[in-house]
Amino acid sequence: MLITFEGLDYSGKSTQVQRLANRLMREGYQVLVVREPGGTPIGEGIRSLLLDKTLTAMTERAELFLFSASRAQLVEEVIRPALERGMVVLCDRFFDSTTAYQGWGRGLPTDAVETVNDLATGGLKPTLTILVDVPVEVLEVRARASGLGRDRMESNGRSFYDRVRSGYRELAHKESRFVVVDGNRSEADIEREIWERVRPRVEASKTLVRNEG
Ligand code: ADP
Repeated sequence: MLITFEGLDYSGKSTQVQRLANRLMREGYQVLVVREPGGTPIGEGIRSLLLDKTLTAMTERAELFLFSASRAQLVEEVIRPALERGMVVLCDRFFDSTTAYQGWGRGLPTDAVETVNDLATGGLKPTLTILVDVPVEVLEVRARASGLGRDRMESNGRSFYDRVRSGYRELAHKESRFVVVDGNRSEADIEREIWERVRPRVEASKTLVRNEG
């Protein structure tokens, strides 16, 4: 089964992906963790283009297609084969990021974005999507505290992130595969809630493969 994680930068997605992966592995599941953009040699090349802060002239549509190109490669080369082998695939961002960032954030027409998403994934949809929801003010504090250089994707204004967050919440409202978790709590509390939501799904899943020994 495919479980995707969504949310703004610094919401704690990667932290929770790792915690869930460790827990699933302890429980005997075969787990694959991938991140977007990237996860394949072609995807990692695209990732470095997207995060390069010297490339300020990139158009919104070029950005949409680069994210989607990376995703198309990842789905075909990595995600589908892993799902066919019965693995639990955890994906740090997937096409909902494109809907939220390029659609709601940048203002590209959402029906066009959906068409591109569908083409990139070949129609593959996550079983479950965990939205780690955190107010933008809290994320700004985390971003400052992290001391990391701000890459191009992180140098947008407050209103951009407010739009992206609204987009995510709207998507979660519309699509039953979403689980919204309050990310403004301790990592351990968030992990516990995510596990409570994921556990029944993986236990019920026919794609579950137990490690033998
Ligand atoms: P993302 O993948 O969403 O960008 P990360 O998991 O990389 O987020 O976390 C971003 C930063 O926030 C890191 O410095 C991390 O230690 C911190 N962080 C993660 N989860 C929490 C939390 N629940 N509370 C406070 N800080 C957190």
